[in-house]
Amino acid sequence: MKIKAPRGTIDFLPGRIELWQYIQEVSREVFSRYGYAEINTPIFEYTELFLRGIGDTTDVVSKQMYTFTVKDDKSYTLRPEGTASVVRSYLEHGLGAAPQPVKLFYIGPIFRHERPQKGRYRQFHQLGAEAIGSQDPALDAEMIVMSMEILQKLGLGNFLVNINSIGCPVCRPTYRQALRDHISPSLAKVCPTCQERFEKNPLRILDCKIAACKEVADGAPKSIDYLCPECQTHYAQVCEYLDAFKITYRQNDLLVRGLDYYTKTVYEVESLDLGAQSALSGGGRYDGLVAELGGPATPAVGFASGMERILLVLEEQGIKSPHSTAVDVFVISLGDAVRTQALVITQQLRQAGLKVETDYLGRSMKSQMKQADRLGAKYVLILGEDELAKGVVQVRDMQDSAQTEVPLSQVVDRLSQNAQQPAKA
Ligand code: AMP
Repeated sequence: MKIKAPRGTIDFLPGRIELWQYIQEVSREVFSRYGYAEINTPIFEYTELFLRGIGDTTDVVSKQMYTFTVKDDKSYTLRPEGTASVVRSYLEHGLGAAPQPVKLFYIGPIFRHERPQKGRYRQFHQLGAEAIGSQDPALDAEMIVMSMEILQKLGLGNFLVNINSIGCPVCRPTYRQALRDHISPSLAKVCPTCQERFEKNPLRILDCKIAACKEVADGAPKSIDYLCPECQTHYAQVCEYLDAFKITYRQNDLLVRGLDYYTKTVYEVESLDLGAQSALSGGGRYDGLVAELGGPATPAVGFASGMERILLVLEEQGIKSPHSTAVDVFVISLGDAVRTQALVITQQLRQAGLKVETDYLGRSMKSQMKQADRLGAKYVLILGEDELAKGVVQVRDMQDSAQTEVPLSQVVDRLSQNAQQPAKA
């Protein structure tokens, strides 16, 4: 039996990977313009980090983590999100002593044991940013703007920004209680998971997708009506900035997000072109996480976007990477006697900066030409025994099929000048 890739994972092959790389390229460019520097943390951490950071009542921690032990008997977990690792690293390397806020971004794999479906995988990738060390609502707005700018630069437009504030440890307990009071009479109607959530995490009942739970959530008290003055001012300021930036958003009272560490602002960008798994980006403020992980009280805000979902929408919209995969030159060699010289020219052209391919299967002239055509070669260089004896090569311009004889000693210079010109009209 052939071995397949594990369920819920994807192989990105050439033909698709170009768009994947383009998503990263655009993100890196946007992040860097907003002053975020890249950080790369391990894909596995001590399990405790996520237990403490994300919260053990969340689905991500209680049901979806890939946790394992190895010979040292310590418990490790493949990261189920990016923020806890970035904060761990911030603390471990004393970044609190650097000028604040510390602005970091990451791109990499995330692991969650979920039931796979279109847009939902067990290994997926996130690109995300964190700004640690400031409570300025301008940073909340910056996260939203930045995640939208990435999507827009990639060519997407049909999405919706949902935003809410879920308060802080001062005001949330009152809200939680109000929510419990609302749900309590209908508790028997909600799904078993939401019944479990009722005591420890009643906010999550608001975003449960099950119809009965939605019905109970309908008419529930709204977190924005319970905000303390500080959270109120903060939220109003975030909205003011978004208005000033002319961002269209929707106040979504049911938006609470899945992880425990969020405080104040939460947001999600939803694609209107994807079906069930429509969330492209999500984030918010997490003013308690740094302290939860053993650091001093430090406000922070961040977001993460799912790269596979972005890729899916791009593909559905027919958006392609603008980078051509075509080769500049294809070197055809005819016969063993010229092979070494053909390889030397291939090598020299590559070192001169051109994208160059040649034949490795001893194909006939005709099928080498076909291969050159398939690869989109701008120029084909033909080297046979006659040419080698005369110290020349044939250079064929694939656009107009014009063929010229060029001295071997000049071919690298000539082609590196020509191939970098835009193709002739
Ligand atoms: P979260 O922090 O869980 O909201 O994740 C942030 C983003 O990652 C989401 O908006 C999705 O785009 C993406 N995402 C989350 N879970 C998955 C998954 N299982 N498969 C693919 N993408 C995901």
